[in-house]
Amino acid sequence: MPRREDRKLSTYFEKRTASTNEPFGEADAGHGPTLSGAFVVHQHDATRMHFDLRLEIGGVLASFAIPHGLGLEPLEKHLAVHTEDHPLEYLDFEEVIPEGNYGAGAMIVWDRGRVSYLEGPAEEGMQRGKLDLYLRGYKLVGRWALVRLAGEPRNWLLIKKKDGIPRDKERFATLTRSILSGLTVAERARGPDLARAWEEDAASRGAPLREAGERYTLPIPREGKPAKGAVFDVALGGVRALLIKEGDRVDVLHEGERDVSAFYTELVRAARTWPTSRVVLDGEIVIFDEAGQPSPTLLGRRVERLRAEDAHAVLLDHPVQYAATDLLALGDRDTRPLPLLARRDLLAGMLPDVPGVFRAPRPLVAKAAVMRELVVAHHLGGAVAKPPDGPYGEGAGWTSFTAGDASPRLVIDHAMEGPGPALRKVAVTNRAKVFWPADSLTKGDLVAYYAEMAPAILPYLADRPVILVRYPDGIDGKSFFQWRTPPAAPSWLRTVVFVDREDRKEKRGFLIDDVAALTYVANLACIPIHILGCRVGAWEVADFFTVDFDVKQSTLAAAVSLARRLMEWLAAIGLPGRVKTSGQSGLHVLAPLGPGQSFTTARGLADLLGRLLVRAFPETATMERHVKSRGERVFVDTGQTGPSRAIVAPWSVRAAPRATVSTPIALEELEDALDPGAFTIRTVPARFRERGDAMGDLLSARPDVGVAIARLDALVKEVGERR
Ligand code: MN
Repeated sequence: MPRREDRKLSTYFEKRTASTNEPFGEADAGHGPTLSGAFVVHQHDATRMHFDLRLEIGGVLASFAIPHGLGLEPLEKHLAVHTEDHPLEYLDFEEVIPEGNYGAGAMIVWDRGRVSYLEGPAEEGMQRGKLDLYLRGYKLVGRWALVRLAGEPRNWLLIKKKDGIPRDKERFATLTRSILSGLTVAERARGPDLARAWEEDAASRGAPLREAGERYTLPIPREGKPAKGAVFDVALGGVRALLIKEGDRVDVLHEGERDVSAFYTELVRAARTWPTSRVVLDGEIVIFDEAGQPSPTLLGRRVERLRAEDAHAVLLDHPVQYAATDLLALGDRDTRPLPLLARRDLLAGMLPDVPGVFRAPRPLVAKAAVMRELVVAHHLGGAVAKPPDGPYGEGAGWTSFTAGDASPRLVIDHAMEGPGPALRKVAVTNRAKVFWPADSLTKGDLVAYYAEMAPAILPYLADRPVILVRYPDGIDGKSFFQWRTPPAAPSWLRTVVFVDREDRKEKRGFLIDDVAALTYVANLACIPIHILGCRVGAWEVADFFTVDFDVKQSTLAAAVSLARRLMEWLAAIGLPGRVKTSGQSGLHVLAPLGPGQSFTTARGLADLLGRLLVRAFPETATMERHVKSRGERVFVDTGQTGPSRAIVAPWSVRAAPRATVSTPIALEELEDALDPGAFTIRTVPARFRERGDAMGDLLSARPDVGVAIARLDALVKEVGERR
């Protein structure tokens, strides 16, 4: 049972057991008053069909069940029952909640977008019993109000306000599909059947089986006159990208080559809701402006902002859409040999052309001259002529116009720039300065250690913001965080600004992807290297979680025994945990999550396992925050998993006597004879050469987190019964 200390979500957790597939989330901490945020409307086929309107307020989603419709005509009023707050992860939640659970039944993301609170902070509006809302979603745009009724405090009214926005009532009545999956709530419930039917359709049209390890490339349309009878796809001037879904893994390959999925996480998360587990699409990533025109400028701005800012805010301000223009594979079928119109039929079956994250516009049948006028009039990127019966990639016609009014082409740079690694040079200063006086170790020894250990440590640092702590006078001197780029920093040093979720301050992380950058930070007298649990551009996605066994008031033997039990449990639930010494007195167990898990899930798992240890071993383990109440027990600390929480990287040196190193160890070494003090900058390089990295597969593991959560539930019961 995922009980959390989190008061905001306590009701949410009370109503649920770990056997639900709903998110484990926690409240997003450290918020000021909420003036705007995300909203989501779920359509939920539970005991009876209803909508759920959820509004981001103070780091959670305030939720209202709406049993009789949303109300789209001015002054229409509908009952809205205030229910328990939900975690922010619910913004992406679209699943069938299994029988026997609270709220069992299919749920789709009917709409999603940004909410602005028009009469001041939403927290005050909730107190007052009146919220004035401006919603901008894929479907809902305009003003609504929520007003609390006298009497029963849970009952509110959702009132459509006049806003002058024209609304096509008939069109709205037909909007029954998810903005993520394109499914209706009834289709959601039989998703696997639908996926099978689509795949059978592809097979019956003659699509051959896919070959194992097949690579997909994007054909570039050649310039030229369209053939007679060609149909047209409009080029929107966005980013052309292949989208490849294999199970839960979704890659977005810019021009078919470089993975840019970290820049477009809403596409990744939406594609995960498709019932088909394997799909390959060709299409364009675009942002439409207020007037409904595709805007390369907005897309470029979004990519720039994502490098520097909180992804949640950027994604709200500039959501992208993916316009799919071809289907290369579906299930185990290669659809490329099929005629264009057959491929487009299959695509339209899977992605109906309705408002949402994905669109699959039909090809246009028109004369070339008419198409040219259309493209020029609407400032589009071009048009591609295709023979209606041709296979994928064949006969693609022309893109740009001799008309002289081609819209300005904006190159969107998903990379960070700089000279090639071969040109990167670092001058090391003050090598002889003593950093560890008792051990006669110098700054030169530190720099040499990191240079030699670069092959071991760099994989853990790749694309991951690193937090620097400098010790310019060695371990006995003052230390400080390096939150700014030093003035003399080389131009190739990659840094990234992120917003600390806890103090809301902008901070700078450093990106260290080669030996020159590692040497540079060592030369800044950075002794430990701390990493975040996420990668650039995917700030809310956790790759692993950490359980820290802090033995300050206890013994290493007790921590070893607890860590062994945790490793057994992790193996039993299918999360292959790995252990390292902290480099000071404790142990860290890291468990991989594979791609796409949120910090709320990661932290939820860590907390639950921590509590389980405390329940099973109350004499030796505690999660007590107050030091005095811990007694002589090992402090099981799960607080190092979170969007702004850093842990000391594997192979990092510590600012501690003997220049100890946080060292990955094999399970056999996790025994009473373990001596973490033996791993120092003097001994560790030879150990690495001989034994390699016992944690080396941490970031490549692809565990099934859903299965792990289900098994954990069984484990919780088992441990509870044993006591
Ligand atoms: Mn509901």
